[in-house]
Amino acid sequence: MSATRQLNQGLRIFFGEFVRVSLRRPRQALFFARTVLWQGSAARRRARTARDGIHVPPIAIFSITNRCNLRCKGCYSQAIHRDSSDELSPDRLRSLVQEADDLGISFFVIAGGEPLVRPEIVEITRDFPHIVFLLITNGLLLDQPLIDRLMTQRNTVPVLSIEGSQEQTDDRRGEGVHDRLRKRMAQLKEAGIFFSLSLTVTRQNFATVTDRAFLQSAVDAGCRLFFHVEYTPIREGTDEWVITDAQRGEMKELVAGFRRSFNSLFIAVPWDEEEQGGCLASGRGFVHISASGDLEPCPFAPYSDANVRTAPLREALQSRFLAAMRQNHALFAETDGGCALWRNREAVEALLGRKTG
Ligand code: SF4
Repeated sequence: MSATRQLNQGLRIFFGEFVRVSLRRPRQALFFARTVLWQGSAARRRARTARDGIHVPPIAIFSITNRCNLRCKGCYSQAIHRDSSDELSPDRLRSLVQEADDLGISFFVIAGGEPLVRPEIVEITRDFPHIVFLLITNGLLLDQPLIDRLMTQRNTVPVLSIEGSQEQTDDRRGEGVHDRLRKRMAQLKEAGIFFSLSLTVTRQNFATVTDRAFLQSAVDAGCRLFFHVEYTPIREGTDEWVITDAQRGEMKELVAGFRRSFNSLFIAVPWDEEEQGGCLASGRGFVHISASGDLEPCPFAPYSDANVRTAPLREALQSRFLAAMRQNHALFAETDGGCALWRNREAVEALLGRKTG
C-alpha cells in the first residue's frame, strides 16, 4: 500500500476512534463520524492535485504567532523564533485555511507561541466546520466566554500542555499554572467539550506522564486524547532532559497498554510515526507554516525556500527543498532517537543548499 493511502487510511481510523471515545456525547460522536466522511472527500481533492504534480499533505501545523504569555523553561518556540513582529495578517490566516481546504488539507494543528494571543483564530476555525483544528494552548487564555463559544464549535479541539505533577508543571511553566490548568479542564468537562492533553516527555517526568494513576485522573477530568511527545533539546543546555534509551524502549509497550485500558486516544511521537515509515515531516504527512509564513518541514526544522505571505499555498507546496527532503527520506526514516530532523539538521541544511560549519 502506498504511503499516501496508508496515511489516508490512518486518518480515517484516527477519526473513527474519536467517534468511539465520544459515544457518551452523541452530538460530538456524530460530528466525528461526519469528519471521517470529510476525510474521504479531502483525500480525493489531494489526489486530484497530485495529478497536477503537486504533493499535498493531509495535515498542516500552523504556528500563527511567536508571542506567548508564558516563559516556559526549555521552550523550543522561543529558542528558535525571537522575532514576533512579522506575523501574517488575520485575512491571510483565513485565506490560507481556505487555500488549504481547496487543496484537500483536512486536519490543522494550530500552534505558537500561544495561539490564543490571537483570538481571531477561533472566528476562522468556526467558518471551516468540516476541518478539525487541534488548538495547542497553554490554557491560561481559555476563559469561560471562549469555552462557551467552543461548545458550538466541535471542530476546534483544545489541546492543553501540562508537564505532569503540580511541581513538574509549575517548575517548567510557572507558579500556579498547574492549578489554573486543572480548573480549565474542569470547565471544559462541565461544558461537554472534547479536549486533549499534550505531554512533553522528558527524562525527569517520564515516570509521571506514563503513570496509570496520573492518566486515570486526567481521563476522569474529561481528557479524551493524549499526545506524548518526546522532548527535543532545541533549547541549548537541555540535553539532560532527553529521555534515556531505556525509557525510549519502554514507551511503545506502555502506550499500547494505555490504548487497551483507557477510554481515550493516545498518540506518541515519534513512536507512532514508525508505522507510517518514519518521520512524517516535509509533506510526507504534514508541513509547517511559521508565524511569518515560511513553509517548513516541521516546527523543529526552521528551514525554508518558500513563503506563503504573498505566494499561494499551491505554489509554495511545489518547494524544491521539501521535495528534496521527501526524496531523501531515508536520511530521516529511523525514529529511535527523538526528532530525526533535529538530530540530522546538517543534512537538512545541506538539502536546502545552506553551507554548514
Ligand atoms: S506556553 Fe508554549 S510557547 Fe509559551 S513559553 Fe510555554 S512552551 Fe513556549
